[in-house]
Amino acid sequence: MARLVIASYRVAKPKRGMGAGGLAVGLAEALKATRGLWFGWSGHTVAQPVPEAEVSEIGGVTYASIDIASADHAPFYAGFANGTLWPLLHYRLGLMEFDRAAFAAYRRVNAAFAEALLPLLRPDDMVWVHDYQLLTLGEELRRRGFAGRIGFFLHVPFPPRDLWVALPQGGVLLEALLACDLLGFQTEADRGNFFFGAARLLGLETEGETLLFKGRRIETGAFPIGIDANGFARTAARAAAGKTTTQMRESLADRALIIGADRLDYSKGLINRFRGFDHLLRGQPSLRRRVTYLQVAARSRVEVAQYRALRRELDQLAGRINGEHADFDWMPLRYMTRDVPRTTLAGFFRIARIGLVTPLRDGMNLVAKEFVAAQDPADPGVLILSQFAGAAQELPEALLVNPYDSEEIGEALAAALAMPLEERKARWEAMMARLREGTAAIWARRFLDRLAPA
Ligand code: ADP
Repeated sequence: MARLVIASYRVAKPKRGMGAGGLAVGLAEALKATRGLWFGWSGHTVAQPVPEAEVSEIGGVTYASIDIASADHAPFYAGFANGTLWPLLHYRLGLMEFDRAAFAAYRRVNAAFAEALLPLLRPDDMVWVHDYQLLTLGEELRRRGFAGRIGFFLHVPFPPRDLWVALPQGGVLLEALLACDLLGFQTEADRGNFFFGAARLLGLETEGETLLFKGRRIETGAFPIGIDANGFARTAARAAAGKTTTQMRESLADRALIIGADRLDYSKGLINRFRGFDHLLRGQPSLRRRVTYLQVAARSRVEVAQYRALRRELDQLAGRINGEHADFDWMPLRYMTRDVPRTTLAGFFRIARIGLVTPLRDGMNLVAKEFVAAQDPADPGVLILSQFAGAAQELPEALLVNPYDSEEIGEALAAALAMPLEERKARWEAMMARLREGTAAIWARRFLDRLAPA
């Protein structure tokens, strides 16, 4: 098998414990098996980055990283990647900002990545590029002469053509992606949006799921990313017996726990979610004092203005909900804008009666999968899930809601609290069985099998 080379904005070096997220877990096996290379950003910015990557080896896998020019990082990351592409890819044209200088910085960073990666490549390597920060990396590698296989996977959604054309460089970016041999998406809907959008905008011929461009064949496919469900279940069971979860359980005093855990991001639908909880408390006075909602919202991208504005709005709303409904010995909403260790989250998921996952749009949403995996098979909780999360395709037994309708979220909360054990078990078993069939390692293998030269 050809050597695997991963390129992503962040490099996840192995850590002890449960530090690693989905991507690192999924790729670890394939990287080890081929004594592969993982390339990305060092986490540092410097005035004049050197073009050579810093290389180290851990457990047979090579890690290589470069610094990004200080002047380029903000326009690349907070600017084009997260001020332009992120809102657009999540269907939020109203939040999209645009600036040609930021796009130029984005291109420079992708070019610098290619420049540093190229000397590390062998002709028969399989290169797998990840996500919206690196849309033009494949093309930059081709421009420098790399002729081996290149795959690209988009972790976030891809919007319909009429939204994509609002981006002035939309066509240029589509062409850049076509430098790859295989383009992977989370769901069939995302794949279709890209495929039909690109074919129409660039006037391409198609054959099945293949695009024909300048005499080359570019394959597309849906590859929903998974989690190590059994591993997460074990972690959750262990954590639930530990000190932190015990303290948490005691603090609940027999109240049902509703849990949400997200990055503090406008795509996660937190405002509507808080309002949904507010509707529950207003509409079902008998449930007051019988529930506690814990929302862990890890601060994210604080350098982007929209994220700071969202935080202020959530702070206010949380204050209002608690001010209105709380009692001297009961706080309905516990709201933390902090990271919590994954093990702790796993334990909390396990003792929660409801997992509340209501993004307005999400590529996949791993929290939904982790919540399901963490449940106690004898007494599983209920997942309330947005119909606009990629995960909804694989988890139709969740209570699916339209996240724009806070009243519907409130109703789903009431339905979940009333759901009998037998129904909870039946729904959970169906979901858990599917998660076991689609782990992160299987996801990586499916993508790489398609990418491998015939
Ligand atoms: P995204 O990639 O957009 O942040 P996902 O739900 O796909 O959303 O993945 C989020 C990951 O981060 C999950 O593995 C989840 O366990 C973890 N996570 C989410 N919220 C927190 C938090 N507050 N503290 C620590 N980890 C979190």
